Formats: sequence, C-alpha cells, structure tokens
Amino acid sequence: MSDNKRMLISGGNGFLGSHLVEKALSEGFSVVVVDDMSTMPKVNVPLEVKLIRQKIENVHISDKFDYYIHLAARPSPEDYVAHPIETMLSNSLGTLKMLELARRDGARFVYTSSSETYGDAEIIPTPESYHGRVNFTGTRSCYDESKRYSEALAMSFLRQYNVDVRIQRPFNVYGPRIRPDGQYGRVIPRFIMQAISNSDITIHGDGKQTRSFLYVTDWVNVTWEIIMRDDLRGEIFNVGSTKEYTINQLAEMIKKITGSNSRIIHTQSRADDPRRRAADITKAINKLGWSPKVSLEEGLKYTVEWIRGENQ
Ligand code: UDP
Repeated sequence: MSDNKRMLISGGNGFLGSHLVEKALSEGFSVVVVDDMSTMPKVNVPLEVKLIRQKIENVHISDKFDYYIHLAARPSPEDYVAHPIETMLSNSLGTLKMLELARRDGARFVYTSSSETYGDAEIIPTPESYHGRVNFTGTRSCYDESKRYSEALAMSFLRQYNVDVRIQRPFNVYGPRIRPDGQYGRVIPRFIMQAISNSDITIHGDGKQTRSFLYVTDWVNVTWEIIMRDDLRGEIFNVGSTKEYTINQLAEMIKKITGSNSRIIHTQSRADDPRRRAADITKAINKLGWSPKVSLEEGLKYTVEWIRGENQ
C-alpha cells in the first residue's frame, strides 16, 4: 500500500457510503468505515474493509488517515423526525469528531451536507450562494439546522486550523441499496415498492411539490473529484440535477416503468415539505467538468431492477 491512500468513511455502510467505499477500493485505497448501522442493519461493505460499528461521535480512532469523508447521517425525513436527537448528534458532535481527527492527522476533510440546508428555497434552481429559508425550530430543523451547523463548523476548522475542508450538498440521490422500507423509504424506493406490490402509491399533499433526482453513479463520480482534486480547499458544491419533476410526475413514471396497477392516492402533506427543489450545478460544471449522465428514466429502471431482485 502506497502512502497517502488511507481513507476513513463515516456512514460508509449506508446507501451512498457503500458506493463510495467500492470506488475507493477500486482506486487502491485502504478504507476503514465507522457506522452505527442504525439506518442500514445489513452489512454493505466487503470483508476487506474494517467496519467499526459505533456512532461516529463516540468512536476512538488511533490510526492515522489521509482523508476523512463524513457521511454518517439519517437522511430520510420520516426517520429523522422520529429520531431528532440522534440526528442532531451525528450532525454536530459527529462532525466535530471527524474534524478533530482530520486536524490531528493533517488530512483532507470532505463533508456530505444536504440540499436541506436551503430549506424551502425561493430561488430555483438554487445556487450555492443562496443562504436558505429554514424553519429553524420546525420538525425538519433537527436535520436542516445540524447540517448547516456542520458546514459552519467545517469552515471554522478551515479558518482557524487550516484544515483542507470541502463540502458538497447532494440533492435527492437514489439508486441500488437505497432502503425502501418503512420510515427509511425516501420517495423513489417507496413508490417503487408500492408499485411492484400493486399497493396504493401515497403522494403527500397535492403532489405539485418538486424534486430533482441524481443517480448514484453520477454522485460517486462527482464526489471522487471533490475528494481528490488538490485545488478545492474551502469549496462548496451543489451535487444534483437541474431537471425538476413534480411528485405527481414521478408517481406516473414509476407506475409506467413497473407496469403497475396501483392507485395513486393523496395523503396529508408533510410539515415544512419544501415546495420546489432543483440544483444549480453551474459551479460543478465549470470547476469540475462534471454533469449528470444518467437520466431519471434510466436510473429508475436500474433501481426497479435492484429492488425487484432484493424482493424475490
Ligand atoms: N413523498 C410523497 N410520498 C411518500 C414519500 C415522500 O409524496 O410516500 C414526497 C415528499 O412529501 C417530498 C418528496 O416526496 O415532497 C421527497 O420526499 P423524500 O422523503 O424522498 O425526501 P426529501 O426530498 O423531502 O428530503
């Protein structure tokens, strides 16, 4: 193993994390994962990866690393609303722990923040320079505000201790290994599960709210650039798609792709559900030469295939 190839990934057993672990291994990195398995009880990383099953805020790490990638979080709204304290701790004390380790080791630190930091944005597509419109004591605040705190803390470590910090804000990433069940199910896997079992597809509210969705391989490619490029200290990137879909459109697409007989029904709106969300990715295009390659239709087909395989 050559020098400069040790990476610690918090949340590396989760949906995004496990894809990043695969990429890091394929690039010859030695990878250690810290994950409390709270949102993904199944092991998703190969045996060669050391998996430390602990909360990132409690872990003791004596080994040294060149890269600290902080992904550990509970990103599903129904789950984080049900676990607000755990959510806030991994997004505050967990981030502090990772930053302290990066400072100790003189390592690079990459934070996976969220498009949730923008709250119910008024500028769509939303650029990185937008400061957000967040209900800071509302039910989603445990996630939004702690992600915002993590970003501020990371920038403070850069300013005060000169840690090489980079931040990304992903917008609704989906694909194989995203958890479809119960309160963990984000909209895409949940609608797919409902469609393939011919159960009702449950749209919250009028379904006119929008999201832009990014397929996981596109996320891995841009994340790798953000981690590896030498000239990105203190840079913040939106990572997402500019193509906005209403939740009604998404439900129809999934019904068609799966050939489902499901009814589409409308249920109660979620509190503080952002009305519109789409990423302005001009910065990623110009600075990283990156843009998404996988269309929503294509990505949905791959995800349906994976979910069907898991449920056979
Ligand atoms: N949504 C829905 N029905 C569901 C789950 C989600 O209509 O069963 C909607 C939700 O209200 C939101 C969008 O889909 O407008 C995306 O929800 P998700 O849970 O994926 O996460 P978010 O983007 O809000 O963080």
